[in-house]
Amino acid sequence: LRPRNRTLAAVAAGDPPLLPAAAASSISPAPPSLTDTRYIPLSAQPLFHRQPRDREEALELIPRYARRSATPVSLRQLVDFGRKPTAERLLLAAQLMHRELSIRLAHRVVELQSLPYGLSDMRSVQRVRELYENSFADLIMYPRPERKGEEERRFTELLRRIRDRHADVVRQMARGVLELKQACGLGADNLHISSFLDRFYTSRIGIRVLISQQVSMSLERARQGYVGIINTRCRPAHVAGDAIDAARALAYRYFGDEPPAVRILGNVDLEFPFIEGHLYHMLFELLKNSLRATYECHRDSPDALPPVKLIIADGQEDVTLKIADEGGGIPRSSLPEIWTYMFTTAPAPPESLIQDDVIPPGGATPASRDTDPIAGLGYGLPLSRLYARYFGGELSITSMEGYGTDAYIHLAKLGNKLEALV
Ligand code: ADP
Ligand code: MG
Repeated sequence: LRPRNRTLAAVAAGDPPLLPAAAASSISPAPPSLTDTRYIPLSAQPLFHRQPRDREEALELIPRYARRSATPVSLRQLVDFGRKPTAERLLLAAQLMHRELSIRLAHRVVELQSLPYGLSDMRSVQRVRELYENSFADLIMYPRPERKGEEERRFTELLRRIRDRHADVVRQMARGVLELKQACGLGADNLHISSFLDRFYTSRIGIRVLISQQVSMSLERARQGYVGIINTRCRPAHVAGDAIDAARALAYRYFGDEPPAVRILGNVDLEFPFIEGHLYHMLFELLKNSLRATYECHRDSPDALPPVKLIIADGQEDVTLKIADEGGGIPRSSLPEIWTYMFTTAPAPPESLIQDDVIPPGGATPASRDTDPIAGLGYGLPLSRLYARYFGGELSITSMEGYGTDAYIHLAKLGNKLEALV
């Protein structure tokens, strides 16, 4: 490996400058295209170790990987890097993923092993840890792809399988925390637990972004205006339209009445680069909350339900979206609690969460939109805030008790903020 192949991040992480010849025999030299890393701070340099032969040997490497720091990337870097997805660039990206994802997965395994209050011993948490261990092992037992084309695509398919089998992790963790609460009264309002969950879910968002970006660029057909999963011309008014339709349909099924109208105001033509899925997630959660609050606050009144307003603003630094409802607001004493996982004023959590149902091979039981409850997990706000903060944004709530609630989503417009990996 030539020194110019090493990025600043690799130097900072203290990578060995050169691979000894003996070690290099199991790892082919990196291709010259590695200079492309000028776009992205990730390193493709393999960590110095022998190719593990089995799961057990692979798991022994976890502490080594966990000693490395994850390298956060920005939206802008992902766009610049992915703009010309040549076969060489995709191979390089796969090699970057091979190292970076192994490091990120290793961190999670180590943390899942050492949670306080016996949370690590909860069955559902152990299952999540096994999932992370398996993915780590699968990843580092898979030789780093060295040839563009087929070899890179087969590796990317492995990434896709890993992503898909982690689909149910949020629910599994939620179940673990619920078990803990039932067992000893400690809930997600506990500071240790909520900051662990913040770290855990943020990391999960990051891992899924990196994998989805690679899968999209390598295995899926390119879409006009997109770089992988990033829409360079993401239009908040369009995403809001979809989220409004879905949230209103859900509200209708749940309450059996015509739900409040939602009006989109402000800069409806605005476009900026963003991951639509993330924006959709936040808007859908906030709209569900506003529709439910409006309905519950006004259902006994003969007047029409007051509409929810969704206002889009374009600034120099931020794109801001405000969701304003007249649903009666939130008592000031509850405001700190709404950011903790599992705080809800909705009836008991849905059966599907509590039931310890058998998870099919592969691990995934993605809850379908149809069976999603409108509320009840208490996860809507804290998770949405992680999505907002992920690329340097923020989500905040202001309430006027007795009148209504304003929720603000601030998103960094320039895309130059690094992933907020905590
Ligand atoms: P969930 O909707 O599953 O209860 P959330 O995290 O989305 O979980 O919200 C937590 C709680 O915060 C809700 O149960 C509700 O009591 C309160 N809340 C959130 N948004 C609003 C709103 N717009 N108006 C009134 N109360 C709200
Ligand atoms: Mg909610």
